[in-house]
Amino acid sequence: MNSFSGLRAVIIGGSLGGLLTAATLRAVGWHVDVFETSPNELESRGGGVVLQPDVLEALHFAGVALPDPPGVASGERIYLDRHDDIVEKLHMPQMQTSWSLLYRAMKNALPAEHLHAGEAFVNYRAHGEQTIALFESSRHEEADLLIGADGIRSTVRGRLLPEVVPAYAGYVAWRGLVQERDLPVHAADTLRERFSFQHGDGHSALSYLIPGDDDSTVAGERRWNWVWYRKYSRAQLDALLMDRHGVARSFSLPPGSTKSADIAQLRDDAKLMMGSTFRALVDATDEPFMQPIVDLRAPQMVFGRALLLGDAASVPRPHTAGSTAKAASNAHALALALRSAQQSGDSIDSALKRWQTQQLERGRRMTELGISLGNRLMNIAR
Ligand SMILES: Cc1cc2nc3c(=O)[nH]c(=O)nc-3n(C[C@H](O)[C@H](O)[C@H](O)COP(=O)(O)OP(=O)(O)OC[C@H]3O[C@@H](n4cnc5c(N)ncnc54)[C@H](O)[C@@H]3O)c2cc1C
Repeated sequence: MNSFSGLRAVIIGGSLGGLLTAATLRAVGWHVDVFETSPNELESRGGGVVLQPDVLEALHFAGVALPDPPGVASGERIYLDRHDDIVEKLHMPQMQTSWSLLYRAMKNALPAEHLHAGEAFVNYRAHGEQTIALFESSRHEEADLLIGADGIRSTVRGRLLPEVVPAYAGYVAWRGLVQERDLPVHAADTLRERFSFQHGDGHSALSYLIPGDDDSTVAGERRWNWVWYRKYSRAQLDALLMDRHGVARSFSLPPGSTKSADIAQLRDDAKLMMGSTFRALVDATDEPFMQPIVDLRAPQMVFGRALLLGDAASVPRPHTAGSTAKAASNAHALALALRSAQQSGDSIDSALKRWQTQQLERGRRMTELGISLGNRLMNIAR
């Protein structure tokens, strides 16, 4: 028996950050419950994720198994120009997976009775070394740790640091998924098993293969994942965020919500700005979706027995391919810090303090790298 046995964490947010934290804390003996506002499975909204070592290490630590292989390998990076000529080729082996494959693997590894869908966190009270999380449903949950893994628009952060809000970076990521067999042969032959880019003047696109809807990595059953970064003024962004039902979305356009006139415009722009390979990807996508690029960094992650991690704490721009890796590293390091305090007889508070120092620095490095890569790519002077 150790002094930490029986301790409980309540995690707000049941996406990758929340599930990773649940899995790593369970591995060091904590009792964990996850509360997710969405009543539905999240997996249909995911796209591609570069599979970074931090994610594999955290999953291994937590005993979460991934399918074998866990993604699609690419051997090289290629850079295409507007005329579809390869202007640069780099040997750079890496692996890409899908957001939904990671999500499913973690969900399957956690006991369903500890995952609570349709529960929106609204506030919390600190009570000595306990926190009490309050939900819209009037539910109350008492815990030794309250973990805000509730993403960019975090309500937990809103209670702790209301002044820290995402800032629009001046451009968006249009994204799409295409079934492997639906891409014309000329484009598929250029892109297959490669991480491919086309940079233009103030815009930039990339593409890679990811597993299929059912996690298949068999050739022909996979999906092409593409991203096209484009600049829009704040007013243009607000117009785009008006969805096809006339509803002004506050944050992003999920698949199926973009107005048909905006999809037609995207295809016209692709004709003007892209070579035939990337143009084929845009043309073959039924429902492109869109997400504005934002900057966000909380100056503090620990507030007594409440803490923030993943995107709730800081959001590196996607050029770092690192927000899932950062969430994994936050989760893994938290479990290690708590286990080490438990073994050395140290307090939870000092473990959290050390964790915060490390993880704030990691968040700072990644957000700064993302800003510098993104501004250079998009010709944005800062
Ligand atoms: C549906 C979905 C699809 C995604 N697809 C991709 C992708 O394809 N590629 C990629 O690189 N990244 C994707 N991301 C983002 C990626 O998961 C994160 O950038 C990264 O993994 C860090 O995750 P996070 O768990 O910290 O934040 P998020 O993934 O943003 O998760 C936050 C979660 O908290 C929940 N939540 C918010 N408010 C409350 C509340 N008040 N109470 C309870 N729950 C709340 C949200 O519904 C969400 O599930 C996706 C995120 C989501 C939610």
